[in-house]
Amino acid sequence: MDNYSKFLHFTIFLNEKTRFLSMDINNWIEENKAKYIEISDKIWDFSEINFIEFQSAQFLAGKLEEEGFTVERGVAEIPTAFIASYGSGDPIIAILGEYDALPGLSQDKVPYKKKIETREHGHACGHNLLGVAGLNACIAVKEAMKRGEISGTLRYYGCPAEEGGAGKTFMVKAGLFNDVDIALCWHPDSFNAIWTMNCMANTMVYFKFHGRTAHAAADPYNGRSALDAVELMNVGTNYLREHMIPDARIHYIITNGGQAPNIVPAEAESYYIVRGPTTEKVHELYKRVLKVAEGAALMTETTFEVKFAAGMSNLLPNRTIERVFLKKLKEFGPIEFNAEEHKFAEEIKKTFPKADVLDLLGILGPEVVEFLKQRKDQALIGDIMPYKESSITIPGSTDVGDVSWVVPLSQFTTTCAAMGTPGHSWQTVAQGGMGIGHKGMIFAAKVLASSAIDFFTKPNLVKEAKEEFQKHRKDNPYISPIPEGAKPFLEQYKN
Ligand SMILES: [Zn+2]
Repeated sequence: MDNYSKFLHFTIFLNEKTRFLSMDINNWIEENKAKYIEISDKIWDFSEINFIEFQSAQFLAGKLEEEGFTVERGVAEIPTAFIASYGSGDPIIAILGEYDALPGLSQDKVPYKKKIETREHGHACGHNLLGVAGLNACIAVKEAMKRGEISGTLRYYGCPAEEGGAGKTFMVKAGLFNDVDIALCWHPDSFNAIWTMNCMANTMVYFKFHGRTAHAAADPYNGRSALDAVELMNVGTNYLREHMIPDARIHYIITNGGQAPNIVPAEAESYYIVRGPTTEKVHELYKRVLKVAEGAALMTETTFEVKFAAGMSNLLPNRTIERVFLKKLKEFGPIEFNAEEHKFAEEIKKTFPKADVLDLLGILGPEVVEFLKQRKDQALIGDIMPYKESSITIPGSTDVGDVSWVVPLSQFTTTCAAMGTPGHSWQTVAQGGMGIGHKGMIFAAKVLASSAIDFFTKPNLVKEAKEEFQKHRKDNPYISPIPEGAKPFLEQYKN
């Protein structure tokens, strides 16, 4: 054979191998899906929030261990973070998993609001599905590795506390992604699409004011109210809003407003989230919020301390990985929902205000608008949304952003809920525990597994994704949103 024939032969062999493997993966996931649906329902039942996902992390890590993965628990000084590895050598392909629920959103698997009385929290962002699709994909790819069809290192990253704890940002800070070549990620949603948009960077901090207590009626002049400081800081921040960039956001809650109105509160606390299009912009705005806090302390003769809770970066896109995901979504899609699932979606759709999805996604261009218009009367959309590269920043944040700054990473979404289902809602909890969510999860597992196999078998694809990553990063160094010395905010759950 001359060199060109050899090259052709090799290319055909690789293509056939990949094709064979992806078909094999599809069958394997279909044959084994009952087991993974059961695992997902188990995580749904645990419904554990930020940093206390002890049962969930243990359960998932245990399943991977049973399958021959080597598990390292408690990474990045977080008891519920873990890494499971299989194989050795290059390339190192990572699949990210999450498993944290949201507080106070307990809900049964029915299309109307019904709290499970024995449970407080609920999987209102579908992270039971997110974590288990990744686990399912890893075990499917491992089967192919075991047969000697693929070589390299496969890793499952067990990432806790996505909902406000920034587990991944701490894992990045601990250097746990430094040797990874490609990271793959997905998220449940109400459409099958590539996540091409940007997210907001943020910083999350507590402002704790200290004053002096006194009898609120007898000698208030001796008191210095920490609550006054909290309130004045909030007022100052609300004036600041007019003079900040339009794509920034500030939100707060009062976490401690004192004990009783007849006592001048010596202690009071607020919890702030400052968001912006980049970490740099967040820092600029945060410094101004800090000045407002100083002003409030000066006015009330109180002092304050700042306690860092979490921080997240905006998302760096990787169009090379996005194109691989797109090919796989088309290969394994669309999702076929059955009559019962359509009925459930129709019912649940009646429980939330008619969301104009076009308002949110219309910015992606005419093809997406047309796609959504044609399906505006459908409760469930199983088709694949047209692909559109976008640099638009959507109002929300994720710690996946931090991983995207240190390793080439992309995400896709699959339909796990009726169109327009509000995020972080009881409706998401309900759908993530039944057929609709399960189908989206199994579909996601196939896309993840088959994409991972492409990166294992096509070194040029890894090279291309890495070159693209380097180009984005060249003049943009990664600034960790975690201040030096800050630890994961576990204290809040210790009592
Ligand atoms: Zn989420």
